[in-house]
Amino acid sequence: MKKKTKVWVWIIVAVVAVALIAILLSDVFDGQKVGFTEILRQLKNENVKGIYLDGYVWEATLKDGSTIIAEGAPSLYDYADFSKFCEEYSIKFEEIAITFKDPNAGSIWASILPFLGIGVVALIFFLIMRSASGANNAAMNIGKNKAHMQNNLRVRFSDVAGAEEEKEELQEVVEFLKSPKRFANLGAKIPSGVLLVGPPGTGKTLFAKAVAGEAGVPFFSVSGSDFVEMYVGVGAKRVRDLFEMAKKNQPCIIFIDEIDAVGRRRGAGLGGGHDEREQTLNQILVQMDGFEDSEGIIIMAATNRADILDPALLRPGRFDRQIHVNLPDVKGREQILKVHARNKPMSPDVNFKTVARITAGFSGAELANLLNEAAILAARKNKATIGNLELYDAINKVLMGPQKKSRVVTESDKRCTAYHEAGHAVLACLCEHCDPVHEVSIIPRGRAAGYTMTRPETDDNDVSYNKLVDNICMSLGGRVAEELVIQDVTTGASADIQHVSEIARRMVTQWGMSKKLGLVAYDSDQPVFMGMEYGNQSRGGYSQQTAASIDAEVRALVAKAHKRATKLLKDNRSILDNMARVLVEKNTIYTEEVALLMKGASYKEVIAEMEKTEGEHNANPFARATKEDKEHVIVDETTAVDTAEKANESVDNKPEDKTEE
Ligand code: ADP
Ligand code: MG
Ligand code: ZN
Repeated sequence: MKKKTKVWVWIIVAVVAVALIAILLSDVFDGQKVGFTEILRQLKNENVKGIYLDGYVWEATLKDGSTIIAEGAPSLYDYADFSKFCEEYSIKFEEIAITFKDPNAGSIWASILPFLGIGVVALIFFLIMRSASGANNAAMNIGKNKAHMQNNLRVRFSDVAGAEEEKEELQEVVEFLKSPKRFANLGAKIPSGVLLVGPPGTGKTLFAKAVAGEAGVPFFSVSGSDFVEMYVGVGAKRVRDLFEMAKKNQPCIIFIDEIDAVGRRRGAGLGGGHDEREQTLNQILVQMDGFEDSEGIIIMAATNRADILDPALLRPGRFDRQIHVNLPDVKGREQILKVHARNKPMSPDVNFKTVARITAGFSGAELANLLNEAAILAARKNKATIGNLELYDAINKVLMGPQKKSRVVTESDKRCTAYHEAGHAVLACLCEHCDPVHEVSIIPRGRAAGYTMTRPETDDNDVSYNKLVDNICMSLGGRVAEELVIQDVTTGASADIQHVSEIARRMVTQWGMSKKLGLVAYDSDQPVFMGMEYGNQSRGGYSQQTAASIDAEVRALVAKAHKRATKLLKDNRSILDNMARVLVEKNTIYTEEVALLMKGASYKEVIAEMEKTEGEHNANPFARATKEDKEHVIVDETTAVDTAEKANESVDNKPEDKTEE
């Protein structure tokens, strides 16, 4: 029955549309009517900001903002025509924003309007017939491009808060889009594909829009899932259409959101529909390869899983630039809150620093949502401003929202996570070459039960041997703390272990940091840094024997770090205990508390200090959430290893370990 109503809606929409078109056509152009020579003169004087070409009617926006319209101009339908025209008249046109009327639309429509009317009626009948016969309406959409184009986006970098490094990286893209010719003339090669990687709600889409906004170029956005249809070949056609459209409007940005929907590793799919996906993906690859450097098109894509993407997508010339957009730290959260509070009256006693401190693990989207909820609460109470009370209630609401149920953790899990994170943090402080710790939390985020954030003090990108070794040691800290204290290990360390083996392997095979294997690069086919499964990699170019000694070296590096981490944590056990205790009580600690604890302060002193600075307003919403509902337990992965001994055995049994003293 739903279908029937849909048809009637369609009819109404169609009638309204026809009426609207009729009205619009009678009065589309709005500006001073001039002769064609006048437009030509303005073009030559470089006084034209933007031009809109609709066949023989040209509409030019002048630098002073006024609009002039000329009829009887030459009919030009695409960019190539227009540039030829400009060259003929020696007009400088790089700076002019050029838009074309869709050739299928516009003035031609005027003449075919009656036919169109008939067409619409026929279409309606067709639709009724279809729905009556129960067929699927999807057939109607075949090949229709779902990409939509936005011009003159208002989003700017200033709307994206707290992601300075990412902005800096994207600034280059903005400059290129502003004047692609300048770069091309110097032979500069600009990345054609930029992949934004990060958890949901961290502002990836916002970033892509901000780049388009800053550069003032059109923004074509499409979602990866739009390409995936049940008809084979449709996705590929959509890709072609999209790139075609973009080429006509360059410079511009193509944004493919959730690219993992089409970009998953080929040959990994199970069951139906995956041929179609592969075709679509292949078409994307073909189109990206077909770019000339001088073409002003940048393709941006977003995903939260770079590791499942097909490696072909990440090759040079495609998405060879990856920008990681992370969940905001405490400073970032404060800035995001401030951005979203810009148009909201806040009560003067609201301190965003405090709010930022108690919203550890929140994404940008959640922070925006939080302020919105607070505004709604304040409005319902007829208040003129948003106060602390509303903010704390809103935090709870956002936390208890459907997806966030999983944030609630049992007490014993909490203790375990606290020791795990404290282990990381203490080692980060003790290892000379680790970056300083500025946030340690047992608030779950994403798939992790807790996190420890470090931030480099300098922009120095060189990574030394010592720094890598310290990094491995710190990454093992979580597991080691569990071994020491809980005397059982959890699966929570799986990401750490993956990270550690990745670094150790690269030290041996790529960075020539193993004396035994020397300064030889062993892995050449290594396009992705994050999350590659080394086990599956074909080990071309070296023998089984070499492979075995690589494994041995990697294991030796890790075992050595494990030993060191164990010793350091044993020697500093009281710091570890105090930090874990503070974490259990307070969930999140920051630079100052870490410093106090490292100096040997007891948990009581630190907690007292925290309560003093937080003031009476911090009715810690997280503590409340924890007690209310214990059913929802964070289980990162389900299989837990039984004992520490067992886990150690699996490493210690290997004969290679003897190489390590
Ligand atoms: P993603 O695409 O990464 O899932 P979005 O770009 O859709 O995230 O972000 C959703 C919303 O969250 C944005 O519209 C914005 O209001 C808010 N937001 C996210 N990150 C930020 C940020 N860094 N600064 C300001 N607002 C942000
Ligand atoms: Mg998004
Ligand atoms: Zn960890």
